Amino acid sequence: NIDPAQPTIRQLDEGAINRIAAGEVVERPASAVKELVENALDAGATRIEVAIADGGKTLIRVRDDGCGIAPEQLPLALARHATSKIDGSDLLNIHSFGFRGEALPSLGAVGRLTITSRARGFEAAEISVSGGQMGAVKPAALNSGTTVSLRDLFYATPARLKFMRSDRAENQAISDTIKRLAMAEPFVGFTLRDVSGGGEGRITFRADPETGDLFDALHGRLARVIGADFAENALRIEATREGLSMTGYAALPTYSRGSSVTQYLFVNGRPVRDKMLYGALRAAYSDVLSRDRHPAAALFLDCDPTLVDVNVHPAKSEVRFSDPGLARGLIVSGLRHALAEAGHRASSTVAD
Ligand code: ADP
Ligand code: MG
Repeated sequence: NIDPAQPTIRQLDEGAINRIAAGEVVERPASAVKELVENALDAGATRIEVAIADGGKTLIRVRDDGCGIAPEQLPLALARHATSKIDGSDLLNIHSFGFRGEALPSLGAVGRLTITSRARGFEAAEISVSGGQMGAVKPAALNSGTTVSLRDLFYATPARLKFMRSDRAENQAISDTIKRLAMAEPFVGFTLRDVSGGGEGRITFRADPETGDLFDALHGRLARVIGADFAENALRIEATREGLSMTGYAALPTYSRGSSVTQYLFVNGRPVRDKMLYGALRAAYSDVLSRDRHPAAALFLDCDPTLVDVNVHPAKSEVRFSDPGLARGLIVSGLRHALAEAGHRASSTVAD
């Protein structure tokens, strides 16, 4: 005889689980853009076109020329914890942006999602899911690659919808997301178009096919994304220590900024916002910049994936190094060395 006041434990249904997960994975339209563009990059795309309307709230469409999805795999793409990127046996060894198999089911739970795709050797097909209700796979028209459109984000979760900021603020966050990913992938062409504003607010980062050199491509991309003045005032950075490498560009102290917005950090190609890394960047310039000035830099740390945990947060903008001191030391000493060579010798010792 169970007391009616006694709580009962129930298994949540798939829709509720997906909506809960969506709360973590998709905070705002820019997070949806990030997930969809990362999927395109994981699919080997060389051109990615993003279209948005009303700050991404009514439409986000990402078109790529990547490997596509075979028709019978489309329902799996929308299934929770289904991924083509890892087999689950080695969570320490991740080489792709995605690996959780959470983004598409989450987006399909809180918006109206349609995936149209054509894999090599297959006809094009599409599948739609709306508020967690999945439709059937249907034939579609598409030459190659994948187009994902997400309409009415958060229509199924009105509480979240209420917390959306202005179109302008969401547009800003979306272009910032695209910029960071475009810096990480200088050989991939990106466009962002606002289809609600009569085509205005368009940004284009062309892939430069002229050069196969990463530093040249990166320099050109940074000139487009951050600005020509940054590129002209930036030192090429190349340093390694014990299996960890740092490459990129860091600006001369004379090009410092009044805020820290021009600090772009990447770990194994992933844009990160990590306090420890920002702190190391600040420390590297501490002797050549006053406290109210901020260094401008785009730095890429690369190491064996087993030495860094990208699994810290679903949105994956934090990382955890197995040896944080190594990362900090490399940033501080590598930048101080480059600054000293350029004639900006720190007042104290150059080594860290
Ligand atoms: P994850 O990226 O973590 O694997 P997602 O939910 O983002 O999870 O995507 C699920 C799967 O759908 C991916 O593993 C991939 O196989 C496929 N997929 C998603 N987007 C694309 C795309 N643009 N091109 C090709 N395949 C895709
Ligand atoms: Mg993904």
